[in-house]
Amino acid sequence: MTARRRDLSILTRAVHAGEPEPRVEGALVQPVFQTSTYETAEDTGYHDIPYLRLNNSPNHVALHRKLADLEGAEDALVTSSGMAAIYTALLSVLDSGDHLLAQRGLYGGTHTLLTQDLPALGIGCDFVDLQDADEWRAALRPNTKAFYIETITNPLLNVGDLPGVAAFAREHGLASLIDNTLASPVNCNPLALGFDLVLHSATKYLNGHSDLVAGVIAGSGALVSRCKHKLDHFGGTLDPHACFLLQRGMKTLPLRVAQQNATTLALAGFLESHDAVSGVYYPGLASHPDHDRARNLLRGFGGMLSFDHAGGGRGAREMIRRLELVTRAVSLGGVETLVTMPAASSHAGLSPAERREIGIGDGLVRLAVGIEGADDLAADLERALSVAEPA
Ligand code: PLP
Repeated sequence: MTARRRDLSILTRAVHAGEPEPRVEGALVQPVFQTSTYETAEDTGYHDIPYLRLNNSPNHVALHRKLADLEGAEDALVTSSGMAAIYTALLSVLDSGDHLLAQRGLYGGTHTLLTQDLPALGIGCDFVDLQDADEWRAALRPNTKAFYIETITNPLLNVGDLPGVAAFAREHGLASLIDNTLASPVNCNPLALGFDLVLHSATKYLNGHSDLVAGVIAGSGALVSRCKHKLDHFGGTLDPHACFLLQRGMKTLPLRVAQQNATTLALAGFLESHDAVSGVYYPGLASHPDHDRARNLLRGFGGMLSFDHAGGGRGAREMIRRLELVTRAVSLGGVETLVTMPAASSHAGLSPAERREIGIGDGLVRLAVGIEGADDLAADLERALSVAEPA
């Protein structure tokens, strides 16, 4: 299925899109091409030389086609991590002396990149509230070149005015970039909303099995090609075996995410009615401030939720120690349910004042829901939440 077939279900495209035609030696599953270099035709241009660092092995090519299909993109590029995708994409649209707008409340690693690493390269950033277009306008400078946001933020699960950001960026000649990790292509395709580049930590839902680290950039052929050239220079290529695992993991992406959407919605409802929980953040709940927007923009609300433990940081830590099925670990989007306290993990790089400013309290618990049974997960949470606090 080399031609993109948007009329086919995502279930079908996840399995068949991008797979080699004809099959390699008839193999149903594409083999791993564990070779760093290939016999090369005379006069091949640098970026087309078949060499592993240049992101063009058969494992890369198949993966790029599947990723592009699922995101509705002309082209896609896989990278050695989500951060490699973010860094490569940003440095493909920004130069020293440029400035970008970014959403407040981004993933902590991206926040650190924007506040510490890019300024060292002479690239400035201002954070804006996605609910307030006046603030975007006020923050624009003559050297502003990009607008960077996330489809669903981590860990408070906010959903901004995505088409509004894309239209604003177009109006002001900015490149629009969006990290679609938390939604996955199953729940949202931001290119269809007008964004220029969509990024993923493929470590999460796309792979889904917590056994590799990878990233994705998808968009127009011209922009992805610009990013590929940067990545070729930076050297952030994905190993062929990891490509193979990611290609395999993506075949079950729609099944996994549909289950994660359903289980997380059920758990959010359960937690919302629990006495030991003082607040739940999940865009699928009517109580979430962005619920209406999420219903319009997303096909599902995703597999992550957060909640405030009524007992604060101490109560949350005690509860996490008592969980039996759910594992304390960073990351998300895998088949196993994981729990973290953002103040001590994804957002540990922020100062306490910065965390308070974006609403991350000490008792905030983040649940990255896997594909276990919803009743079993609810029972584990119930047991852990219900044990009385010692006096
Ligand atoms: N974007 C989001 C939303 C994330 O949650 C993460 C990692 O947790 C990243 C990007 C970075 O991805 P990676 O760890 O694959 O570099």
